[in-house]
Amino acid sequence: MNENDILARAAKALNAAGIEGGARDARKLYDHAYQCGGRAQEPQSRDRPNAMTLALFESALTERLARRPVSHIVGKRAFWSHDFIVTPDVLDPRPETELLVELALQGPFKRVLDLGTGSGCILISLLAARPEARGVGTDISDKAVLVAGQNAAAIGVADRLILPLSEWFDDIGGRYDLIVSNPPYIAAAEMAALQPEVREYEPRMALTDGADGLTAYHAIAKGARAHLVPGGRILLEIGPTQGAQVTRILADAGLEDVQIHSDMDGRDRVVSAISPE
Ligand code: GLN
Repeated sequence: MNENDILARAAKALNAAGIEGGARDARKLYDHAYQCGGRAQEPQSRDRPNAMTLALFESALTERLARRPVSHIVGKRAFWSHDFIVTPDVLDPRPETELLVELALQGPFKRVLDLGTGSGCILISLLAARPEARGVGTDISDKAVLVAGQNAAAIGVADRLILPLSEWFDDIGGRYDLIVSNPPYIAAAEMAALQPEVREYEPRMALTDGADGLTAYHAIAKGARAHLVPGGRILLEIGPTQGAQVTRILADAGLEDVQIHSDMDGRDRVVSAISPE
């Protein structure tokens, strides 16, 4: 079988199992298998993949059919301008979160704080785009900060960030030009309705507060002014129904110019605000 036949058969199997975007997933899994197969002795071409590629692809497909996320199978995910290492200890970087990076890069910053950095995808993307900037990325998961550290090294920004263990602002001093976060915002009651890829494979603590989904915003809003320079910006990812509530939480904390921004699907995705001068 050549590559096209293999991909068509796999896409069909994935779609039949109810997995959206089966063709796209088949392509990503195949490219990964083919790249690994390239390290085997047996030669291969796109028309005639070797036995290693075929075996790896079959096992990848089986895992995907069991709803394991593509990023966990191939160990990485493209986000903004780079590939990020992804493990089950970090939230899988999502395309919607690129809006937060895009908005952050619309303004100046030299010092940036990322609360709940996970894979580091937001912070590292920002530092890679701004060679003069330095950053702090916190997390409560020691396993997550190890992944973020690997990503920082691979992308070449490790000398410009630190990754302390901290729950929100608990162990963080100093003031920043920019604070960013994609906190756990799914309400406990919404967890059951998530796709199995998310619910069963992603770290629960990165998804939900186990309550109403707003706990993190209260904690972040409480410490924001004390950790921002006057005129400093804060950008928070939100769930699509949380715009009004998070706006109120930030405004009640004394932040100004609170705005809601929509993602490429037209859904509310980021709330921004500015610290008073
Ligand atoms: N965007 C994720 C989802 O809906 C949630 C991530 C988060 O809570 N920050 O699956």
